[in-house]
Amino acid sequence: KTFKDLGVIDPLCEACVALGYKAPTPIQTEAIPLALQGRDLIGLAETGSGKTAAFSLPILQALMDKPQSFHSLVLAPTRELAYQISQAIEAMGSLISVRCTVLVGGMDMIPQSISLGKKPHIIVATPGRLLDHLENTKGFNLRGLKYLVMDEADRLLDLDFGPILDKILKILPRDGRRTYLFSATMSSKVESLQRASLSNPLRVSV
Ligand code: AMP
Repeated sequence: KTFKDLGVIDPLCEACVALGYKAPTPIQTEAIPLALQGRDLIGLAETGSGKTAAFSLPILQALMDKPQSFHSLVLAPTRELAYQISQAIEAMGSLISVRCTVLVGGMDMIPQSISLGKKPHIIVATPGRLLDHLENTKGFNLRGLKYLVMDEADRLLDLDFGPILDKILKILPRDGRRTYLFSATMSSKVESLQRASLSNPLRVSV
């Protein structure tokens, strides 16, 4: 199968080819068609499986269809992972002029607030810093959010982001929002996060 066979639009297929992605990985083959049908997904997948593209390609495709600022939010457990995801999104979205910004702790708030003022399409963030901006950055809100991704949910919870995730989930809109939760392992904590945030999800695993 090719990315095109999965329903991915040409400018995204071309970017994948340019990145050396010759064929979709198993998690991409399973997840992308379901995501393009508008389903919420639980992905059981490890780093190295190609999970970033599995959730990013459907999001970029939806963004291309109806461009808007603050379209999607990806939550990740660490700064390093957040930057890595953002780089991957920018590379895959290079032909559709996607604007992506990173909000992580340990960095100055002000440059991040300025970058939010430029109305990016996609935000990749660690939970604490995202909440800080939602509470303190004037003019910033996620009321029109269409996609939420929680990547490495097991690590998010191991790092005690649970209470912060609960607060963020209370602020985010539920109507019209699709949610993808990726985790290497399932635990009772991950399952309760899943129940609190996904609607009628399908499970994909590799
Ligand atoms: P991830 O699991 O998202 O961290 O991706 C692991 C690595 O696989 C990254 O370096 C990606 O650039 C790469 N990758 C993702 N999808 C594909 C694909 N379809 N073919 C080849 N490499 C890929």
